[in-house]
Amino acid sequence: MLKKDFKIFEKDYVYLDSAASAQKPQKVLDKLLSFYQSDYANVHRGSCELALKATKLYEEARQTVADFIRADSKEIVFTKGATEAINLVAASYAQTLKKGDEVLVCIAEHHANFVPWQQACILSGATFKTFNVLDDGRWDLNDFEKQLTKRTKVVAVAQLSNVLGVVNPVEKVVKLAHKVGAKVMLDVAQSIAHMSVDVKTLDCDYMAFSGHKIYGPNGIGVLYGKCKALNELKPYQFGGDMVDTVRVEKTTFADVPARFEAGTPPIANAVGLAEALKYVNKIGFAKIQKEENGVFATLIKGLKQIKNVEFLGNPDLKTGLVAFNVKGIHADDLNLILAKENVCVRVGHHCAMPLHARFGVKASLRVSLGLYNDSKDIEKFLKALKKAIGFFK
Ligand code: PLP
Repeated sequence: MLKKDFKIFEKDYVYLDSAASAQKPQKVLDKLLSFYQSDYANVHRGSCELALKATKLYEEARQTVADFIRADSKEIVFTKGATEAINLVAASYAQTLKKGDEVLVCIAEHHANFVPWQQACILSGATFKTFNVLDDGRWDLNDFEKQLTKRTKVVAVAQLSNVLGVVNPVEKVVKLAHKVGAKVMLDVAQSIAHMSVDVKTLDCDYMAFSGHKIYGPNGIGVLYGKCKALNELKPYQFGGDMVDTVRVEKTTFADVPARFEAGTPPIANAVGLAEALKYVNKIGFAKIQKEENGVFATLIKGLKQIKNVEFLGNPDLKTGLVAFNVKGIHADDLNLILAKENVCVRVGHHCAMPLHARFGVKASLRVSLGLYNDSKDIEKFLKALKKAIGFFK
């Protein structure tokens, strides 16, 4: 039903790779065009009509993002993506962590929420620790509690793993982390498009997501931080718009969020992201989840019926995405045939090598849904997959 909102589906693509990047509804594309045609200028600088209009739209976009996750607009920093948002926080910690401090991440983290923390620990002399997942894909909370100590300064975790598809018990982990005085960096890059994300309920200190996974443009991301937590961070990049006064002797910095938005920001992309969030809000997560869950159930049922499909984790615990292998056939080989059938899926380690190592595999094939997918897509995918398996038998 919602496919009609996306011009790209006028061609017969079976697009099952929204966890990598989602397609854009026409409304977002129209907004980008009209912004560039009628409202475009740099922001926070000029005083001509266009500069004022562009600044107003950019700041309204910040408010739309804040409302979407129930934050205050001062708590929203625009970045170029989730990766940059996490790097911003980790780069500051790299300067303040000390030997003896610890950072704890889940083994399932996307490299974007794994490597920046690993590197921050290397630079600062702090200890980088991981906690495990169970065979069914859920967090191993016993291991988490064992690894969490009074020395833990940061816990970095994702609400929804981009490989396991399990919605994690974030609130519980946030409470435990706060008890030992650790801050929590929450990666909602995957969950943001599938469920309502509310920073007041989650109570995380920092949160990151990308616009392109929630039907917005690429080149825009969001770092949320509680005001106090943001104020504790050191500036990430230096340049225009993030300063208060600049003298030869000394520079003072602007208040947050401007302090973290050095240079010309991704103006049109922020406006486009706001349009995407309005689009999602208009449909509503109740409807999105109802549709997606129905389509996903058909996918899991179909996969379970195929011999030799080996899931990463329990298929019944997943939301929106599933990764698996077919015993005896490399995922890359299957993908070659799927691609020929116009089926777009993702094959590889999905930027989660430590997780694949945990499950003893090098790669997997991932199918992920967006709000535009329907049961016809699943039928075509399953048919193509069976054909591919038949080819290699
Ligand atoms: N975190 C998770 C869970 C992801 O799935 C991704 C991207 O796939 C990222 C972070 C990084 O997002 P981006 O590449 O948009 O910065």
